[in-house]
Amino acid sequence: MSTTTWLPDLIYLDGRFVSDRALVCDNKIIKIANRDEFPSGIRLKNRALLPGLVNAHSHAFQRVIRGRTEHRSHHTTDSFWTWREQMYAAANRLSPEEIYNASRLAFLEMALTGITAVGEFHYIHHAPDGSTYDDPNLLAREVIRAAHDVGIRIALLRVAYARSGFELEPNPQQIRFIEPSPDTYLKHLEQLLAAPELKDGMAWAGVAPHSIRAVPLDYLKPIINFANERDLPVHMHVAEQPAEVSACIQEYVRSPVALLDTEGLLSKRFTAVHAIHVTPKAIASLKNAGAIVCACPTTERNLGDGVVPVDAYFDAGVRVALGSDSQIQIDLLEDARELEYHLRLQKTARNVLAPADDDSSSALARRLFECATISGAESIGFNGGKLEPGAPADFFTVDLDDLSIAGCAVDDLLTNIVFSLSRTAIRDVVVGGKQIINSGLHE
Ligand SMILES: [Zn+2]
Repeated sequence: MSTTTWLPDLIYLDGRFVSDRALVCDNKIIKIANRDEFPSGIRLKNRALLPGLVNAHSHAFQRVIRGRTEHRSHHTTDSFWTWREQMYAAANRLSPEEIYNASRLAFLEMALTGITAVGEFHYIHHAPDGSTYDDPNLLAREVIRAAHDVGIRIALLRVAYARSGFELEPNPQQIRFIEPSPDTYLKHLEQLLAAPELKDGMAWAGVAPHSIRAVPLDYLKPIINFANERDLPVHMHVAEQPAEVSACIQEYVRSPVALLDTEGLLSKRFTAVHAIHVTPKAIASLKNAGAIVCACPTTERNLGDGVVPVDAYFDAGVRVALGSDSQIQIDLLEDARELEYHLRLQKTARNVLAPADDDSSSALARRLFECATISGAESIGFNGGKLEPGAPADFFTVDLDDLSIAGCAVDDLLTNIVFSLSRTAIRDVVVGGKQIINSGLHE
């Protein structure tokens, strides 16, 4: 791949914006040099350049139910569980082509908002009648194809789903998700790992036991052990709903995090998605294992899940990534600011997540931006989310004249971007050195 030099007004480096720099890339960042050394290149006038955002938790197909669940159903009180019935109704109708189209729509919107890599928690495996397709990874590969066609990276987190839940009858609505034994799951995962589209660094796979509810312990252990042997990321919904926690205690006499911890299943590869209803002891266990938490605040507020205790996670030293999850909104900077705003409402206080040992004016914004970049990249298992030599050439630019941030001082720019940027300010998006969004339009 040929070398390209990008010349924006400002580049976000080591936690601050600097001017007069050139970013020299092929598919990776080769160097960040003084502008004098590289006077010619692609001039990005009135633009600031930042590392690409990483969306660590997505169910792309759920894009099709956007706007279709915001009304009372026949239940007395609507909840996560009544929403789930509506979501299942959509999941059970989609053809492979429709899954491709829905995914491409979601990934296109992600690209337009500066997201350059996605962790896709993919659980629709079978045909609507529950039969396995000739290629058991047909739908996973359709989702990967959609990411390729848009141009973003994808970690296909292949979901294991065994049952409805502890002492629950099988739910016919889950017929497309279920692979009844760990051997079947691992056979299909190995086939996916050998697929040609997983060879170029733009796509890779991970292991995603859906939840403790859906995957019993004797299934969970062999698949997490497989992931650890192969150094694959492991993602799992953990403690999203109180009912899930109480069912786990009933079955195992331990909360979900305590179960994972005492069975030796937590590690630095492990991402606990949501992790809302947790105890201080659970937070310490996640910290000791080096695990990551993925919060999805725009979805969590939409589903009425609760507030992720990110203050306690940060105090303990747990990294937090972000996900667009149900796609009710695709705007990772909105997720970043919601982490803070939910806690402000809960605690009637401000700047809750600002680090105690750093009183600089952009410290809070830096911390939230890290969630949207580096922590997300670590969660899905790649070396992105930062601008440094050797890192992937994945970045986006914002228009400094956009009215949502116009007029701010350079020292306040990151805080303006994290708290106030409209996504229309995002102008260029580059993934692996290739420009996929140019002046706000997909190439
Ligand atoms: Zn999810």
